[in-house]
Amino acid sequence: MDERSKEEYRPFLERRRRELVDRIGQAARRVSREPSDIQLVAVSKTVGNDEVALAHEVGYSTFAENRPQELKRKVAAARLNPALADVRFHMIGNLQTNKINRVLGNATLVHSLSSAHLAQALSRRSLLQDVVTPCLMEVNMLGEETKKGFSPDEAREVLEVIMGLDGISLKGLMTMAPARNPSAARKAFCGLRELRDELRERSGLELEELSCGMSGDFEIAVEEGSTLVRLGRIVFDPTYEDV
Ligand SMILES: *Cc1c(COP(=O)(O)O)cnc(C)c1O
Repeated sequence: MDERSKEEYRPFLERRRRELVDRIGQAARRVSREPSDIQLVAVSKTVGNDEVALAHEVGYSTFAENRPQELKRKVAAARLNPALADVRFHMIGNLQTNKINRVLGNATLVHSLSSAHLAQALSRRSLLQDVVTPCLMEVNMLGEETKKGFSPDEAREVLEVIMGLDGISLKGLMTMAPARNPSAARKAFCGLRELRDELRERSGLELEELSCGMSGDFEIAVEEGSTLVRLGRIVFDPTYEDV
């Protein structure tokens, strides 16, 4: 981005951030939650390093990527910029076992733990590198064909296996809802919270994180207990319009 484009883009990011923080706060207060319990994760998959740096200037510090190679690239760029020392990246997309090394040590949270096979591979690689990788189990709450993740029953079954793995630390659950369908989104998010409560009861794990809510449904997610809203287009795209 040239300097002129940056000067135009920064005020948009700043104004949009104020709106989003405000809307998250209002949704939280509607259900008597503390707004500070909800973290806004800026999904930077469609933008470059300059946009990330500008977003950081206006107050974002946690970003997310859905491709391992791009995550690695963005983390490397951020590490070269002392101003971005407090920036964190999360991994939110499909992760194949042969790409794990691009993510380990680069992502501070993996939202997309979607199979026992991946959990075992992540555990093994984390142990080899002497790191503990915080993870969320991705759950396909409504059984959509096109989505990855454990069914709720699979999540119940695999919980003990995952708990037994060293090198990964289970922090909660993640889901994605069908687009443009508020009632289905609410059902998915509410179901995710109930499943978390059940798994918490059974495991004794805190499972404090619920990652749900995107540009089109984040207020519903906050009302249903989300602690991590993953916002992409609404943060970065001036042409994004709420439907
Ligand atoms: C792209 C993406 C998002 C952000 O989606 P928007 O609708 O642009 O807010 C959130 N979560 C995942 C897993 C994504 O891939």
